[in-house]
Amino acid sequence: MNTQPIIQLNHISAAYEKKRVLENVDLTVYEKDFLGVIGPNGGGKTTLMKIILGLLAPESGELHFYHNGLEVKEISMGYLPQYSNIDKKFPISVYEVVLSGLNKEKSLFRPFSKEQHEQVRQVIARMGLEGLEKRAIGQLSGGQLQRALLGRALVSDPQVVILDEPNTYIDKRFEAKLYKLLEEINKERAIILVSHDIGTVLQNVKSIACVNGTLDYHPDTEIPAEWLEEHFGCPIELLGHGNLPHRVLKCHHHE
Ligand code: ADP
Repeated sequence: MNTQPIIQLNHISAAYEKKRVLENVDLTVYEKDFLGVIGPNGGGKTTLMKIILGLLAPESGELHFYHNGLEVKEISMGYLPQYSNIDKKFPISVYEVVLSGLNKEKSLFRPFSKEQHEQVRQVIARMGLEGLEKRAIGQLSGGQLQRALLGRALVSDPQVVILDEPNTYIDKRFEAKLYKLLEEINKERAIILVSHDIGTVLQNVKSIACVNGTLDYHPDTEIPAEWLEEHFGCPIELLGHGNLPHRVLKCHHHE
């Protein structure tokens, strides 16, 4: 993996009103990284993403961005929101959704350029959505909607894409297809993948951040089962699955 950092968080703390959610978090994301962000519900994963995306100001700490080894004010980021945050009734077509990913680069009073429309067509083809350009997002399957939104996140050619719980769009049958696509995307840019699905994440990412108020970073996916159990409060079992170790929750009952 490339060792040039692109995002660096130093001693970041975050709170809503008086409630502290993240405490003294350090994290470095590298070029072409594939970082999995896991942790229990309410642990602060989405809050961490909001800070990286600049949607929430940290209470304290520093956030730095780098491009080719030099510190810059910002880097380009694409974002795939959680399924539950999408208004499926919003009357917008697949083409318009992908095009909206270029809004930031459009000059205010000028229409999109020929080149920008060409970029949109290329992304639509890459996402396997040709023929569906005019379809309203409310009439797409979960997988098609996800690919349209992934197209929106990618069309501006960002340095990093952030995916918040992408498995909520699709059922298990399509998961392998999604990860194949992410593997391709990862050849060109870093990916940050937020998920509570530990097993799938560990099989696909290069490094892991476990977030539960604080953050534990693992430069690879060799996380001790004891750590996972302690932080998730659930017993986790390691299973052989093809060539890859596979972690699942053991049968258990919460108190
Ligand atoms: P995760 O993504 O790991 O489930 P979140 O970052 O969404 O965790 O939430 C962390 C904590 O912050 C939770 O206790 C949640 O209730 C709280 N929280 C999240 N967003 C807000 C908000 N806008 N206002 C107040 N509390 C919030």
